[in-house]
Amino acid sequence: MSPVQGVIDSHCHLQDPKFDGQHEAVVRRAREAGVSDLVVVGYDLESSRRAVELTRSFASVYATVGIHPHDAKTLTPSGVDALARLAEDPSVVAIGEIGLDFYRNLSSPDRQRQAFREQLSLARSRHLPVVIHARDADNEAFDILSLYPASVKPEWVTNRPLGVMHCFAGDLPLALRYVELGFLISIAGTITYHNAAKMRAVARDIPLESIVVETDAPYLTPQSRRGQRNEPAYIVETARFIAELRSEPFGVIAQMTSVNAARLFALDLVPQPAGERP
Ligand SMILES: [Zn+2]
Repeated sequence: MSPVQGVIDSHCHLQDPKFDGQHEAVVRRAREAGVSDLVVVGYDLESSRRAVELTRSFASVYATVGIHPHDAKTLTPSGVDALARLAEDPSVVAIGEIGLDFYRNLSSPDRQRQAFREQLSLARSRHLPVVIHARDADNEAFDILSLYPASVKPEWVTNRPLGVMHCFAGDLPLALRYVELGFLISIAGTITYHNAAKMRAVARDIPLESIVVETDAPYLTPQSRRGQRNEPAYIVETARFIAELRSEPFGVIAQMTSVNAARLFALDLVPQPAGERP
């Protein structure tokens, strides 16, 4: 059995200005709540840099680097180079969050597609998994990602997931198609909201080997604290909710989602001492 005890928050934005000056307290509360590892996800160049910086101050905190579809219009050729250099840092465990968002269209669909493809190819060349944001773009995101495994697989470690569908909001058949492709499905605190029937069906019925949990902090605060800023400590509420849905002990959900996140991000499963690095 794996020694993992805590829950892994597979997606948070600790570099968001809402956490300025509070990183130590937020990380401490996460540890106290039983969160073993945090993955700080970049959404533009600057937030990707700050994610990498945060990993210098805390043990068991990892970074991803990437340009969110909202910011696709900011991705220049020199930006791609800068991202590629950042991705060489050993603290970087994935490329993301990247994808398509046709709900808000803050960048034009064409710029989004271009940035998405460029960053998929960066992930492929760096042998890193991808963190995918897809909103109101289910068909096109799936079409693009369905071609991805074939281009990656010859050099990919067997059994390692190719990426994760962050804050997955699609239906169960789509979730199963992503699982089939080799992606994990990430469940956020929104599953605790009253209108989350579709998400609950996904979290209940996909294989346990395919689920990870995330806060997306400071966003998507779980129901019991709605209205407050979200933070990684609150991931426990989401994991408990999934445990109840699946009639499994909390420990099983904590352990399995952590093992899955560790497989995805190639994290060391041996727990490290809590707190700051010496
Ligand atoms: Zn996010």
